[in-house]
Amino acid sequence: MFDLVVVGGGPGGYIAAVRAAQLGMKVACIDAWKNAKGRPSLGGTCLNVGCIPSKALLESSENYERAVHKFADHGIRLSGVQVDMPTMLKRKDKIVDQLTSGVAYLFKKNKVESIHGVGRFAGRDGDTFLLEAVDGDKVTPVSARQVILATGSVPRAIPAAPVDNVDILDNAGALAIGEVPRRLGVIGAGVIGLEMGSVWRRLGAEVTLIEALDTFLGAADEQVAREAQKIFTREQDIAIELGAKVSAVEKVAGGLKVSYEQGGRNSSIEVDKLIVAVGRVPYTDGLQLDKVGLAVDARGFIPVDEHCATAVAGIWALGDVVRGPMLAHKAEEEGVAVAERITGQKPHLDFNHIPWVIYTAPEIAWVGETEQALKARGADYRAGSFPFAANGRAKGLGETAGFVKILADRATDRILGVHILGPFASELVTEAVVAMEFSATSEDIARIVHAHPSLAEVFHEAALAVDGRALNM
Ligand code: FAD
Ligand code: NAD
Repeated sequence: MFDLVVVGGGPGGYIAAVRAAQLGMKVACIDAWKNAKGRPSLGGTCLNVGCIPSKALLESSENYERAVHKFADHGIRLSGVQVDMPTMLKRKDKIVDQLTSGVAYLFKKNKVESIHGVGRFAGRDGDTFLLEAVDGDKVTPVSARQVILATGSVPRAIPAAPVDNVDILDNAGALAIGEVPRRLGVIGAGVIGLEMGSVWRRLGAEVTLIEALDTFLGAADEQVAREAQKIFTREQDIAIELGAKVSAVEKVAGGLKVSYEQGGRNSSIEVDKLIVAVGRVPYTDGLQLDKVGLAVDARGFIPVDEHCATAVAGIWALGDVVRGPMLAHKAEEEGVAVAERITGQKPHLDFNHIPWVIYTAPEIAWVGETEQALKARGADYRAGSFPFAANGRAKGLGETAGFVKILADRATDRILGVHILGPFASELVTEAVVAMEFSATSEDIARIVHAHPSLAEVFHEAALAVDGRALNM
């Protein structure tokens, strides 16, 4: 009998299990993930086929891009630079192995019992929830007073492009293409489309993104999205077809023919590989939620309140399987908060301060409201922007595209949103998150000393620009 059983060992589940164990609970975590070698592998989507392997390939491919196209500017001449795909993939797999084994180590260190198998409810006995972990023929009964469901999400499928992970790939297949395809198509110009499209474009593929919506990156600030689209299409030669509805994908001699309708006209492209990245859906298959009186909502999510409590006292759900952005850091912080709440603490997570990052080059990152959202709600605000092109560190790096934009309330000067397109935006956005979490004003940032020369000075200058007093422009 455990105090807590966590179902799902991704970033939401494993962090919840570790935090609960730190707080003195007797914890078990049931996880079903098996890697390509058929071995149990903790860490969920994020560590196995998501955040971590994609960032490894983004870094490797960016290094290749720098070596081929950017080193010459620094006076470094190279010749015969080649992509060694097996080594690049092996490096990525090694990072994944190290981090997934790291989770197993954390479970041992914190005395979390790790059970491999598919977790499901078998019923309840008074206040005790009865579960089973099913691994082939082996069924292990597990019971606990509290249960956290962190079963994550899976790629959304579309009938026109059934994934076989040979030619038509989901995110797992997109991370394991054995040789650089000459022509790559991606259905969906969202986060995965842009990140994986960037990887394979840098390595030499001709990349076309086919996006159903008329707008590019609708969740981002419009100014950032516009500038990013220009850079991706004009400078990086990624073709982005907006308002394009894929009707069929057929195998043809030497590749795949992707047919789509765009602006009332039928078009098609031929590609060697096709990635399908049209969003993800919550995953609850096999959980037998009905055995404890739970049901998913119309979109398949487990309904929860702001504290991740489900309709059944003692059962919690978090991460991708519940409402909110499907981001690893959101899942992790919900995991911490739920473990602390179960043990009597009163944690609070501000969903308005969850940062978003897209790891393209330049990177895109933001936190808080976009300018179009402020306009739509009639907010009275001031905006301050500053370009990386006027920053010494960015010039030294040779990464001068993009800008930082800060949006602040006109009356109180409180920061309402920060939008970054530029080098290391993923790192820079944290200053914005801290600022917003502490209710900082743009003047607070303007008065803080930022190291020189640093990219963070662009954030500083954008804060000064809110009040019309940027110094270096
Ligand atoms: P998951 O990580 O999906 O883990 C769920 C786990 O539960 C899995 O191991 C699954 O096997 C297991 N499971 C499911 N059902 C059962 C069951 N019945 N019994 C036992 N186990 C079960 N997010 C970011 O923040 N930054 C990024 O850079 C980023 N990059 C990404 C790149 C890609 C290609 C993809 C696909 C996603 C990326 N994400 C990123 C999103 C991120 O991976 C998810 O938001 C995150 O993994 C969600 O964590 P989770 O714990 O809710 O679920
Ligand atoms: P997404 O929601 O980011 O993008 C999907 C895109 O596909 C959207 O632009 C959508 O309009 C489009 N689309 C939907 N149906 C379509 C169709 N039939 N034809 C053409 N286009 C269609 O989803 P994703 O890129 O699949 O990624 C899934 C999720 O994983 C993300 O939303 C994010 O939460 C997470 N993720 C995060 C990161 C990161 O944080 N850097 C990286 C990768 C993935």
